[in-house]
Amino acid sequence: MTTLLELQGVSRRFGGFLAVREVDLAVEAGEIHCLIGPNGAGKSTLFKLVVGRYEPSAGRIHFRGHDVTRDAPHSRVQRGMSIKMQAPSVFRALPVRQNLHIAMQHHVPPAELAREEERLLELLGLASEGARPAGELSHGQQQWLEIGMAVALKPTLLLLDEPTAGLSPEETFRTGELVQRLAAGGMTVLAVEHDMSFVKQIATRVTVLHLGQVFARGSVEEIVSDPRVAEIYLGV
Ligand code: ADP
Ligand code: MG
Repeated sequence: MTTLLELQGVSRRFGGFLAVREVDLAVEAGEIHCLIGPNGAGKSTLFKLVVGRYEPSAGRIHFRGHDVTRDAPHSRVQRGMSIKMQAPSVFRALPVRQNLHIAMQHHVPPAELAREEERLLELLGLASEGARPAGELSHGQQQWLEIGMAVALKPTLLLLDEPTAGLSPEETFRTGELVQRLAAGGMTVLAVEHDMSFVKQIATRVTVLHLGQVFARGSVEEIVSDPRVAEIYLGV
């Protein structure tokens, strides 16, 4: 197993409050690793520590063998992280294809751009939407386009912050299929997620946060059948 991302004793303090406490977490190559937990557990704070929007108050973060603890977000992206934040931020006035073009232009050789755009549109289930302004897409389609823009950077580790927020059950299921296609293509995924049906659909491993700490970790089966988890996490 190759460890892509490793957090060792990572904490984050806001004033007198410890939002994340001594978290150890390893994401192995090939995993779809879901981070779950009740509201206020520290998931979003941990996500921001991983992508570099917050600095830890203590602990170390390694990515692909490099200590990135104090690195800026863009330098983590250069090392192979790609981030899809919660709210869609596509260029609404531009065609779907142009959005992908902008995202991939520095990561794909010019001669391969058109073919790569086509491949990605197909992968995202947006093959017939390429010419439409992105702002006309449904909320779900905009989320998929946004995932596509993160994927266009050809990341080693794709980081998703609540990719199913605001989606219908049908759109949620299709998002799961998309994440699984990406993983089958060799991408490793770390996703913060609320929706347990989605977690059951995609996760190869689950970490449960509670009160800023790792409360449980294991396979979906282990987590779902753990009565301690059910107690803290309504909806399991
Ligand atoms: P989750 O994403 O699991 O719901 P968060 O990481 O957003 O949890 O928040 C964890 C805890 O840290 C909460 O109690 C929240 O109020 C607190 N918190 C998060 N961000 C800040 C901040 N910037 N300043 C102060 N407290 C914060
Ligand atoms: Mg959150």
